[in-house]
Amino acid sequence: ATSEMAEDNPNPPPLSIIQGEVWLWECIAAHLPPKTLARLEGTCRHLRAAASDDALWKASLEHVVDTGGALPLHNMTHRAAARHVHAALEGGLQCPLVYCAEGVSSIDRQPEGPENVIPWSQCVSETFDLTPEMAMQMQSWGREVCHCCTGRPCYWSSAASADGDSDEWLLLRLRARVCVLQSLVLHPYRAWWQPRDEQSKYPVYAPKSMECEFGYFPGSVQNPLGRRAATPSPNEHSEGGEGEKEDLLHFKTSRVSVAHSAQGTSITLDKPLLVLGGHVRVRMYGKQQRQTLVYQMANEFYTCVQHIAVTGAAVRGLVCDTAGGE
Ligand SMILES: [Zn+2]
Repeated sequence: ATSEMAEDNPNPPPLSIIQGEVWLWECIAAHLPPKTLARLEGTCRHLRAAASDDALWKASLEHVVDTGGALPLHNMTHRAAARHVHAALEGGLQCPLVYCAEGVSSIDRQPEGPENVIPWSQCVSETFDLTPEMAMQMQSWGREVCHCCTGRPCYWSSAASADGDSDEWLLLRLRARVCVLQSLVLHPYRAWWQPRDEQSKYPVYAPKSMECEFGYFPGSVQNPLGRRAATPSPNEHSEGGEGEKEDLLHFKTSRVSVAHSAQGTSITLDKPLLVLGGHVRVRMYGKQQRQTLVYQMANEFYTCVQHIAVTGAAVRGLVCDTAGGE
């Protein structure tokens, strides 16, 4: 067809072929980042006319991020949304996104609260697994050792449970109502100062599996932190009394198995994910480790987490209807 056309007209204006074909422009935009589409738009009036269709910007936005379904933009075009997302991506996707902990299923003792999962624990190194002997040696060299061995925990601990299938959750607030998520990694806590377990390993209080929910979950926010709460269901809506806000689930990851090790377990994404609402609820299913301290009650399961790393970029200026808050 191309050669025939070339015979009819030796210099066919190439744009006339696809001019007016919105679906074709959408296909092209679906392979272009917003910045490139913006540049292309500036090259001629045909392209400027084509790019006035917001569907092109939606396609271009979905080229750079997974929007987790239809984006409920509030009085905003996809063109504007794409500009804000692109600006966020330009800064890279390596920013720590957790701002604070806002809720938890249970706490064993008050200092073992969920706020401890935000910083990286001092007793954890990528190059060695700390043992009591090493800690003593470090102290003899005058080096600081993590205070988790002396009652100042660097981790969150659930309450004890006799049931290895009992579940826990943590609610974390992200740095912005709209974020681009690159990865989420959960690092179970390895209690290097406790007696070794029946496999001669220091206990690692890992859950069996986990999944993450992104959205806005005012029903899970606790004040003060750690008040005992039932596990909220994402499909359950509270009565919605005056001033009460409803939970809004934007995206739920698939459930992944957690290794019985202090090495982190990641939620991996095919593409950076646009998450709305400013909350992530990390659900942890089951418990793999029993307590090893013999002077305490035996046969008790716990979930303990050293660190949860949520990495990506905060998106400023993008307003969505399910972004929650005031
Ligand atoms: Zn520690």
